[in-house]
Amino acid sequence: MPKYFTFKGGIHPGEFKFTEKDAIEDFVAPDVVYIPLSQHFGKPAKPVVKKGDKVYVGSLIGEPDGGFSASIHSSVSGTVKKVDKYHHFSGNMEQTVIIENDGQMEKDPAIKSAYSDSITPEKIIEIARNYGIVGLGGATFPASIKMSPPPGKTFDTLILNGAECEPYLTSDHRLMIESPEEIILGALLIKKAINANRLIIAIEENKMDAVSVYEKIKDKYKFDIAILKTKYPQGGEKQIIKAILDREVPEGGLPVDVHTYVQNVGTAYALWDAVYNGMPLVKRIVSITGSVKNRKNLKVAIGTPISALIEHCGGYMGEAGKLIAGGPMMGIALYTDKIPVTKGTSGILIQRKEEMSLDEPTNCIRCGRCISSCPMNLMPNLLGDFSEFYKFEESKDLGVLNCIECGSCSYVCPAKRHLVQLIKVTKAELKKKGR
Ligand code: SF4
Ligand code: SF4
Repeated sequence: MPKYFTFKGGIHPGEFKFTEKDAIEDFVAPDVVYIPLSQHFGKPAKPVVKKGDKVYVGSLIGEPDGGFSASIHSSVSGTVKKVDKYHHFSGNMEQTVIIENDGQMEKDPAIKSAYSDSITPEKIIEIARNYGIVGLGGATFPASIKMSPPPGKTFDTLILNGAECEPYLTSDHRLMIESPEEIILGALLIKKAINANRLIIAIEENKMDAVSVYEKIKDKYKFDIAILKTKYPQGGEKQIIKAILDREVPEGGLPVDVHTYVQNVGTAYALWDAVYNGMPLVKRIVSITGSVKNRKNLKVAIGTPISALIEHCGGYMGEAGKLIAGGPMMGIALYTDKIPVTKGTSGILIQRKEEMSLDEPTNCIRCGRCISSCPMNLMPNLLGDFSEFYKFEESKDLGVLNCIECGSCSYVCPAKRHLVQLIKVTKAELKKKGR
C-alpha cells in the first residue's frame, strides 16, 4: 500500500465532486466579452487598447503596471467597444476591456512557439510575464515573480499541486486526466526556470484515476507522485509542503524559505501553452456545479459572463440563493451573474436558498473544535473574540497573520460563529495600519 501524505488539523467536508467524470467541453465565446484589467494579485494592468481597436485572440490589451502586476490579453477576435468600469468579482466596478466578438476566433499574427530544447530560464520567466501567466489555483500570483526568488534564496523541489481539495471543484482533476503530458511539460519548464532538481506531482487519494495516468509517464519524464489523504485544506501551500517534504515554512515566511516551489497544475498547463504554442492565458477550465440543471466542466474564454455559462448548462435548478466563484470553503460570493470569468475562476457553485446556512451565531461553548481543525495551529476562538472587541494588536501576537483563511474553524464551529470573517476583519485592520 502506498504511503498517503497528510498534515495536522484540517477537516473532511462532503466532497460533492459531481462533475469528476465529465469531460471538458469547449464553450463557444459569447458575442461580447468583458475582460477586467484586475484579475491577478498585484496592481491592475494598464490598458493598451481603446474603443474601435481591432484585436485578435492573444492580442495584448493590458500591460503590467510596474513589477507587481500581470499582462492581460484578448480571448476573442473582434473590436474593442470600450474600456470602462464593469461588474467584478471583488464586489466593485473595475476597469474592463469590453470586446465585441466577430466570431472568427482569429489568432494574433504574432503568436508563434518560442520552444527550443535550449530555452533558458530567463526566457521562460519572460514568457510567463509577457503572456499573463498567474497561479490558477485561486491565488492568481504572477508566475514570473514567483519564479524569481530574492537574492540568496534557492529552490530544490517543485511540487505540482493537483490536490483540488475544495468540495465540488473538478477543473484540475479533469485537466490532469485529459492533458497529462502538457501539464508535465509545463512543469518541466518551471523546474528549469527555478533550477530545481526534483519534480513531484501531488494528487489526493480521491483522484486515483488521475494517479494512474501519471504512473504511466513518470519514468519517461522523471518525476515522482505523492498521493495525499483526502482532507481540506490539503492543497494549501504550507500544508502540502509539510505533508510531502516535512518542511515547515517559517512564520511570516514563504515556501522559498524551505527551498520549495508549489504551483497549480492548471498554471503548468498555461505555461506549456504559452511556450510551446505562443498562446497567452486567455482561457481556463471552469466547473459549473451545484444547483444548475446540467453540471459541466467547461473551457471558457476569459471575460465570458457567468450568466452565459449557466444558461448553457440549462439554467438554475430552483431558486438560486447564492452564487460562488470557486468552492464553498474559500470561494467568493458574487452579487450578480453578469460578473465575467477571470483567470482565477476555478468554478461556479450555485446554492439554492434552502442550502444556505442562515443560522445566527451563538456564544462560544469552549469546545475547542476550531483549534483542533486549524491547519496553522492557531486559536480561532480567541482570534474571533479579539476581533469582536477590536483587539487587533492582541490578535497579531497570537499569529493572526498566519491564518490562511481556509474556513475550517467556521465549518466545525457548533455555535456557528463567523470566525473566518472576524479574522479577515482583523487582518484588514492590521493591513490598514501597515502592521
Ligand atoms: S484560523 Fe485561519 S487557518 Fe485556522 S482554521 Fe480558521 S481560517 Fe483556517
Ligand atoms: S468551535 Fe466555536 S464553540 Fe467551539 S471553541 Fe471554537 S469558537 Fe468556541
